[in-house]
Amino acid sequence: MLPIKMNPEEQFKKIISHCKEYGFIFPSSEIYEGLAAVYDYGQNGVELKNNLRTYWWKSMIQMHQNIVGIDASIFMHPKTWKASGHVDGFSDPMIDNKDSKKRYRADQLLEDHQDKIRAKIEKELDKAAKRFGDSFNKELYSETNPKIVSYNETIEIIDDTLKKGLETGDLGLIKQLIEELEIVCPVSGSKNWTDVRQFNLMYSTQMTATDGESELYLRPETAQGIFVNFLNVQKSGRMKIPFGIAQTGKAFRNEIVARQFIMRMKEFEQMEMQFFVRPGEELKYYEYWKAIRLNWHLAMGTATDKYRFHDHVKLAHYANAAVDIEYHFPFGFKEVEGIHSRTNFDLSRHQEFSGKKMQYFDTELNENYIPYVIETSIGLDRIFLVQLFENLIEETLENGETRTVFKIHPALAPFKVAILPLLKKDGLPEFAQKIYNELKYDFQCFYEEKDTIGKRYRRQDAIGTPFCVTIDYDSLENMDVTLRYRDSMEQKRIKVSELQDIISQQVSWKSILNKIEE
Ligand code: ATP
Repeated sequence: MLPIKMNPEEQFKKIISHCKEYGFIFPSSEIYEGLAAVYDYGQNGVELKNNLRTYWWKSMIQMHQNIVGIDASIFMHPKTWKASGHVDGFSDPMIDNKDSKKRYRADQLLEDHQDKIRAKIEKELDKAAKRFGDSFNKELYSETNPKIVSYNETIEIIDDTLKKGLETGDLGLIKQLIEELEIVCPVSGSKNWTDVRQFNLMYSTQMTATDGESELYLRPETAQGIFVNFLNVQKSGRMKIPFGIAQTGKAFRNEIVARQFIMRMKEFEQMEMQFFVRPGEELKYYEYWKAIRLNWHLAMGTATDKYRFHDHVKLAHYANAAVDIEYHFPFGFKEVEGIHSRTNFDLSRHQEFSGKKMQYFDTELNENYIPYVIETSIGLDRIFLVQLFENLIEETLENGETRTVFKIHPALAPFKVAILPLLKKDGLPEFAQKIYNELKYDFQCFYEEKDTIGKRYRRQDAIGTPFCVTIDYDSLENMDVTLRYRDSMEQKRIKVSELQDIISQQVSWKSILNKIEE
């Protein structure tokens, strides 16, 4: 069986249509033409999403004695976002093309331009490698070939100008660079640009109270709900440093240039954990969490070379280390998770803005301090997308037919087992229902009587069900069934009494959680 090769665009289209056809993801309010960059999870999608969230939650809270969870509100006091810096600083530099009326993130236009230059460099290097054969010295050639040197200089100028423009707020520098590089609008092809302006990414709304109205924000990240509850949790849970607080929940960002399906949405879900440590010990824990978080991704069965760490070159002013975990999508390595050493910035700011002490008394050191924080922050929807790219496979079978199979880790699969009576008569459905009623307490089970068994197997393959149990006439006499494995398509005759154990072994949380620590 061979996976069929597809180009990235084809693969994306295939994933989006598969998600719709099999009840994973629908465009939001589709009967009204949908809402840009907002999606709804369907009957199979919600199961997978719940499982991914549970996997994260267990890996944090159940696996660590010193991490607890909370569920803070989406609405928070507006001062929270002043203190966190989001009111003044959480914005993207945008530029409009006057001809196409399309709006772009100015930094992304420049980064896309850098990618194009990098592709040109690669082309030059390929050509040279062919020309010089075995004697080709790639490094030396890159350093001395005038074309490549000049390309690299342009890449650097873009980095420097972006950094300077964003740090000083002189957005004219960015516009000037876009003009100098003659970057054109991908839609109109023209260079007729407006000035670059900053757009805040937070959505605001009003809250009415007896003393009037106040402006509130929909939270753009879940982390602040953890910071403002730091003392509540520490005191009520008698937590001792180092300890962590985790939470999952919706976050909202007015992403103007939302694209790539659930990769960048206006409403999405984050899973964040803040780990509070002694000042000076943060980099030790930063390394610890880098390793644990990478293992979390790999434990789902992904090949090691599909992930990489990408250190932030431009650190936020409050961070002393930051790295992204990137997954190799067919359209390039992209961030799926961030790990940040945030110093004591957030707690200090909340202390300043609220006037409440955000300190911890360390009994071992006999001193008070504001703890330092390591944050791990991952997008649940992006991980969902990774699962689709990684595991949705089209295979050519030995008989020449093709099948679409979603080879998700069994512990994460929306349904664990499908119970399928071969025929809809002669007591087979009743026997099958009995098995369903037995297994449903432990596993999310699917029951289906319609269509040929082959078609039913294909449908379960497409939603990732690791096991199918088929009930036939022999079952009634011998109390046995056919167990079919999703990945190998192997079929085994087993006793009904063995089902529970066989399924358990493969779908248990242990089967995935214990790989994180390996
Ligand atoms: P990006 O650079 O891709 O915009 P970010 O650096 O702003 O992401 P963070 O603020 O660090 O992202 O958020 C943590 C995680 O939340 C990201 O790694 C990503 O998985 C997820 N995330 C962020 N923005 C979105 C979005 N608009 N849609 C879906 N997931 C998102």
